[in-house]
Amino acid sequence: MTSPFQLYINGQFEDGAAQFDSINPATGQVWAKMPEARTDEVNRAVAAASQALKDSAWADLTASQRGKLLYKLADLIERSAPELALFETQDTGKIIRETSSQIAYVAEYYRYYAGVADKLEGRYLPIDKPDMLAWTIREPVGVVAAIVPWNSQLFLSAVKVGPALAAGCSVVLKASEEGPAPLLAFARLVHEAGFPAGVVNVITGFAAECGAVLTCHPDVAHVAFTGGPETAQHIVRNSAENLAKVSLELGGKSPFIVFADADLQSAVNAQVAAIFAATGQSCVAGSRLLVEESIKDEFVQRLVQRVQSIKIGLPEDMATEFGPLCTLRQRQKIEQIVASSIQQGAKLLTGGESIDRAGYYYPPTILDCSDATQADCVMNELFGPVLSVVSFKTELEAIHTANNTAYGLAAGVFTTNLSRAHRMTKAIQSGIVWLNTYRAVSPLAPFGGHGLSGHGREGGFEAVFDYTTTKTVWLRTSDQPIDDPFIMR
Ligand code: NAD
Repeated sequence: MTSPFQLYINGQFEDGAAQFDSINPATGQVWAKMPEARTDEVNRAVAAASQALKDSAWADLTASQRGKLLYKLADLIERSAPELALFETQDTGKIIRETSSQIAYVAEYYRYYAGVADKLEGRYLPIDKPDMLAWTIREPVGVVAAIVPWNSQLFLSAVKVGPALAAGCSVVLKASEEGPAPLLAFARLVHEAGFPAGVVNVITGFAAECGAVLTCHPDVAHVAFTGGPETAQHIVRNSAENLAKVSLELGGKSPFIVFADADLQSAVNAQVAAIFAATGQSCVAGSRLLVEESIKDEFVQRLVQRVQSIKIGLPEDMATEFGPLCTLRQRQKIEQIVASSIQQGAKLLTGGESIDRAGYYYPPTILDCSDATQADCVMNELFGPVLSVVSFKTELEAIHTANNTAYGLAAGVFTTNLSRAHRMTKAIQSGIVWLNTYRAVSPLAPFGGHGLSGHGREGGFEAVFDYTTTKTVWLRTSDQPIDDPFIMR
């Protein structure tokens, strides 16, 4: 099988050290061959990125010229969104309804950072010395290693590549080995947009021979990572080798809290989206429903009824609402956690058994954990379509339960009581709080968490500062000679 997918290093497309099979999760069959980067390819990609920082073709561009290249890339993404969406759907099983709308919106992230490029101003410092001037300049931090997981790769890379290029950095973007097709296709758009060779390199490969080599590389200045907490620990350890800056966007176990005064129909729909969109494979999945006891039975009944009508099908079909998981390993992990949670006292309300058809399908599943509040499904990120339900009696109890997690990425609160909404926002420990909504994202809005969910913020203006370093410049204005070398002035 010849493959249209290639690595992109130093402005050239190449086949890589070897090829590996990529499986379509809807069929369980190989659908394409992917190029594998190993040590040599990683080293050449970093060398190309380092050289690009010195070459005038990139280094001497004005900030507005960098912005123009990013605008062009955004237009090309918009034009190619249907093709990129189909690649993501075939390679990861994410349904076409979601990939097409998400990828069309990815263009807006590049447009936002195109606009940021020429707004990275330094500061004039009103310095405390009469015969000196001092000011700061923001410079690119250097070579950025951007590493993403398999879900939403174009989106998760846009929040790294966009600000990095706006700041004048160069990038080695590592696509996940589980579904790299959309990013390898994105490399063609980078090429078409006219970025100088080496400014953006796109590779894929496995943990040890690609990811670890990249993150330990002495010429990498910043590692922008999205993925699981265990991989993040490896990356932080690797950063002891090169002392690279590291930013981490990791998983979550986000609470979705419904008070009795909420608009219940909106809350039901939002809860379905919160946990079952992307087949539950979303870092911000609202995987813990905390519902006020007085409405629990009614709310859960409405939820189960809605969930049982979700259309499960082939991801390429526009009518499908729910597709397969990305990998067999992922399905096996979910099966195990659901089984152990039931043993620990969780009651199965719907789903709970792998679907008997080709591919890696697992149904939307709801477990009542009111008598098993410490069950595995309540405490751990499954990264799948499993919702744990826990009830609460008071606002204080809701806060306590919401914060009883090692993660801290997102939270949803449904209430019509404005004062309570503010109190909850303050009390909940998470990087994002959605009030009477869920999953809203925008290039303008910072995104990230704390604890096991990582640190750093992507999106929004401040994110670009992660990719800059500050240079302070001093100018002595006095005409008098410097007389005493042993006095600090
Ligand atoms: P993962 O951590 O296994 O892999 C992520 C990336 O890291 C892949 O490209 C992989 O090849 C690479 N990698 C693996 N080992 C490495 C190593 N030793 N050194 C360097 N790179 C290495 O994650 P996954 O299973 O692909 O994705 C699921 C996880 O990602 C979940 O925990 C999910 O919550 C998280 N996630 C977080 C966000 C967010 O924005 N916070 C978004 C999506 C997914």
